[in-house]
Amino acid sequence: MLLVMNKNATPEEIDAVIAAIKEQGYVPRPIPGGERVSIGILYNKGPIDGSLFLGMPGVNEAIPVTRPYKLVSREIQPKGTIVRVGDALIGNGHFTIIAGPCAVESEFQSLTIAEKVKKAGADMFRGGAFKPRTSPYAFQGLGLEGLKILAKVREATGMPVVTEVLDLENFALVEEYADVVQIGTRNMQNFSLLKRAGLSKKPILLKRGMAATVEEWLMAAEYILAEGNSQVILCERGVRTFVNHSRNTLDLSAVPVVRNESHLPIIIDPSHAAGRRDQVAPLGRAAVAVGAHGIMVEVHHDPGKALSDGAQSLYPEQFEVLARQARSIYKNLQENS
Ligand code: PEP
Ligand code: MN
Repeated sequence: MLLVMNKNATPEEIDAVIAAIKEQGYVPRPIPGGERVSIGILYNKGPIDGSLFLGMPGVNEAIPVTRPYKLVSREIQPKGTIVRVGDALIGNGHFTIIAGPCAVESEFQSLTIAEKVKKAGADMFRGGAFKPRTSPYAFQGLGLEGLKILAKVREATGMPVVTEVLDLENFALVEEYADVVQIGTRNMQNFSLLKRAGLSKKPILLKRGMAATVEEWLMAAEYILAEGNSQVILCERGVRTFVNHSRNTLDLSAVPVVRNESHLPIIIDPSHAAGRRDQVAPLGRAAVAVGAHGIMVEVHHDPGKALSDGAQSLYPEQFEVLARQARSIYKNLQENS
């Protein structure tokens, strides 16, 4: 349930409502709004009797939250969340482009790619320092050395950096260096990692599990918000299906569903959806048209020599065209809606 306070409710009235919620054995979560404060009621086992609170001074409305996810739900927050990362904004009214290699391989490689994607219009840089690889014998990432290279990229280009955390063990290290901490498809339901992400001061990019429903994905995001971090960006990256013409199947329909269900921004990663270079730009263009708030694209200056995901990495020149097309489609939509 969401209690919406009057515009002129006093801090004392708000405190009294918070105390009354606790008295009932529930957990209150104040949600400051532009004009008025709302208070979410969490951890209730069944429906809540709104009349318990409706008579209290300052309480304007009691709205039942019908979805299993609460804090990520649009029922609780009708206005879209805008996540700020440095100069970049992700959410309604913005189209954000994140680009970079699958993995940080060397300082030269990362700086070379970063300069090219920045010139082509990328807002943020991506690159894994800790890589979740199917094979234990494959390149696992440079670890701390990779994070230090990302810091150099940020310093040299001004672009914020997005990088993945694989486990609790390295969380503190990754969040120290990253501007956005990524939780990958394989960890979407790693609940201890999600809880730790909820304690972070950094925005979290939460990828959809490769076999997760939208509801499971939003429940995973709920873990992060429930611990106090509301800066979450969702990322659709394709789901497993029977087809073999692409690595995964990009679930474009998830975008309007998520936008309807949740106030969190949602971006699309066409690279991991496709798994092959020739499909990345078409899917990236579709991402804009379907209403994503941004795209995250793998780019490599020498994909043939990439230590991971070379087959799906765009050449910088291809990325430059995609970025231009994506912005043009976005502008067209803005002007015609
Ligand atoms: C990645 O973005 O580097 C990655 C490993 O993606 P995913 O978790 O979607 O497979
Ligand atoms: Mn990759």
